[in-house]
Parts: sequence; structure tokens; C-alpha cells
Amino acid sequence: MNILVTGGAGYIGSHTTVALIESGYNVIIADNLSNSSISTKKNLETITNQELTFYNIDVADNNALENVFSNHHIEGVIHFAGYKSVSESVEKPLYYYNNNLISTLTLLNVCEKFSVNKFVFSSSATVYGDNKPPLTEKMLLSPTKNPYGETKVMCERMLSDIAKSKEHFSVAILRYFNPVGAHESGLIGEAPNGIPNNLMPFVSQVAKGKHKKLNIFGDDYQTLDGTGVRDYIHVVDLAIGHVAALDNLTNGVHYYNLGTGRGTSVLELVKAFERANDVEVPYDLMDRRPGDIAECYADVSKAEKELGWTAKRDIIEMCRDAWRFEKKHHI
Ligand code: NAD
Ligand code: UDP
Repeated sequence: MNILVTGGAGYIGSHTTVALIESGYNVIIADNLSNSSISTKKNLETITNQELTFYNIDVADNNALENVFSNHHIEGVIHFAGYKSVSESVEKPLYYYNNNLISTLTLLNVCEKFSVNKFVFSSSATVYGDNKPPLTEKMLLSPTKNPYGETKVMCERMLSDIAKSKEHFSVAILRYFNPVGAHESGLIGEAPNGIPNNLMPFVSQVAKGKHKKLNIFGDDYQTLDGTGVRDYIHVVDLAIGHVAALDNLTNGVHYYNLGTGRGTSVLELVKAFERANDVEVPYDLMDRRPGDIAECYADVSKAEKELGWTAKRDIIEMCRDAWRFEKKHHI
């Protein structure tokens, strides 16, 4: 089956490409390399031992996208392409609304034109806003406080409306928790531009000596040690979750949390990283980061029951694989 993976050169898209190929799918990647590098194509070819079909196009470019659908008999789409920085979206809302909404709309129009009815969408736990964990798919979404989160809520809404109007449209909306780690080869992983916003890449860079210390944002939350708690999920488990979603797609709209169901505090993650990799991660305790919530973790029972999928890799493996990638590649 031919699957179009938009954003396939990116962090999660590249790992999902590997998982899809390992499960027998044929992958066509469309990515404009706005937040990734063409070297990922070569690294993916090394891991999968096959040549990849890659289009350097903007998914918001209707003609370029139609050309891809004309060249290949696309049977399903996994849509990763989009911008993902919460803080950048607050500074440049229009940039986020333009890219994340127009790419999704264009892609959906082309899918309709070519009668492609299987769609998997990258959403985020951010859509749950201030709901109290464990977060379940049934919860009403609360406002997300940032344009990035709003683009996810809006795309979810578009997809659900389309699924209601078209009998044969099947869509899985996957709400990711905190993806971390890297492929065991160390060839692909998360390589953010500039200073990372997210915890794991920052911890890796401190261990490497790129920054003197980690700033821990807040030690006065109502959590086990006062630091923020998140549901970190190994990116390879997340990637396999996409294959499970695709394999089990049925008509209508389906929402799944992809997480581990376990919360880990910032201090616990730092200690796990030090233990897993035999390195030191010096830190300072700082004020809370504006907009942060205390705790976020998933109820993962729906994905387990309906997709037969659970995350297998623990926090030590996440830290080991993140560090292997950092040491190998990220200068
Ligand atoms: P990423 O930036 O590594 O990958 C996104 C890819 O899409 C990049 O390769 C980029 O070049 C490409 N892209 C962006 N806009 C494009 C466009 N208009 N046309 C073609 N290509 C385009 O990000 P990621 O971490 O792999 O995230 C993938 C998806 O998952 C995103 O939609 C993101 O919002 C969502 N998500 C990510 C996280 C996370 O923590 N990484 C959490 C929840 C949801
Ligand atoms: N965090 C931190 N220092 C950093 C980056 C993040 O203490 O340099 C904390 C942050 O406050 C949160 C947790 O680590 O409690 C996860 O943050 P991240 O940005 O990775 O994910 P998100 O908050 O978007 O879930």
C-alpha cells in the first residue's frame, strides 16, 4: 500500500517512515525541509536498505501536491507537516495559522480529488489544555492558550466534519504526549534549530557541554518533587503507534492518545539521563515557565484496546537513545 507521509524528513515522520517500511508499506515523502535536512533521506535509506521516493515540496502548494498524487496511487496519508513550536506560535501566530491550516486544507482537498479516504493526523496533548490527568479522549477540549494548539484543535475539527459528511472517510487523530529519544542506529533523531525549548534535547546538550546548566522551570508544583510532570514516549513506540492506527482504520473519526500513561518529573528525567548514560547534568532551579501546567499524562487504555498498541520502551531507553543521537550527530 502506498502511503504519503507529509513531513517525513522531520523527527516523528522519519521514525514513522522506518516503522511503515518495516511493516511492508511503500512510503512516499513530501517535505519542504523547512525544519529538517535532506541528509535524513540518505539516513533513512541506510536504515531501511532501500531507495526512498522524496518530494521537496510545500504541502500547501496544490499543484505540486496534485503532481505527487498523479505520479503515485496514494492509498493513505499520514500528515506530520507543520510547525510545532508553542513559543514561536505566540510570536508569529499568522505564520502558524497559515502553514498548519493551509497545508492541511490543501492536502484534504487533493485527497478528495483523488478519492483518498485514509488519513492519519498528528495532533497533540496540548488540545486538552487545563484538563486534569489522566487525560482521556472523551474529555472536552479546553482553550490551549497558544496559536499552535489552536491549529491542532481546528484541524481536528475539520477532519471530524469531513468524516461526518463522507461515509467512506476514515481518520485517526493521534494526540501525542512528549516524544523523545531516537532510532537505535543513532542516524535519525531530534535536531532542533538553535536553543531547544524542550527538555530532553536541552538535557542532551547540557550533557555534551553545549550549555553549562539546565534551567529547571519550577520546583513548587503540586507534584512528587515539585517539578513538572510529563508523559514521555519513545519516538519509536510513537512511530509504531502510527502503523497500528493505519492498520486498524475504519470509517469515521477516531481519537487516540499516544503516550505511556506514566508521568515522569523533570528531576526524575535528569536522574534517569545521568544513570542511563553515566554523565552529569548540572541544573539550577528557576521560576516556573509562563503557560506551563503542573502535570500531563495520558490514559492510554483506548489505544491499547482498539489498536492493540502500547508503548514498550522505558525512560532509561529514551535517555540512552537520545544521548546516542546527540553524541553521534548533533554538533
Ligand atoms: P518536525 O519539525 O521535526 O517535522 C515536521 C516536518 O514537516 C519537517 O521536516 C518540516 O520541514 C516539514 N514541514 C513543515 N511545514 C511543511 C509544509 N508546509 N510542507 C512540507 N513540509 C513541511 O516536527 P515533529 O516533531 O516531527 O512533529 C511532527 C508533527 O507532530 C507536527 O505536526 C507536530 O505539530 C506534531 N507534534 C509534535 C510533537 C513533538 O513534541 N515533537 C508533539 C505533538 C505533536
Ligand atoms: N523544562 C525545564 N527546562 C527546560 C525545558 C523544559 O525545566 O529547559 C520542563 C518544563 O517546564 C516542563 C517539562 O520540562 O515541566 C517538559 O517541557 P517540554 O517543553 O519538553 O514539554 P511540554 O511542556 O511542551 O509538555
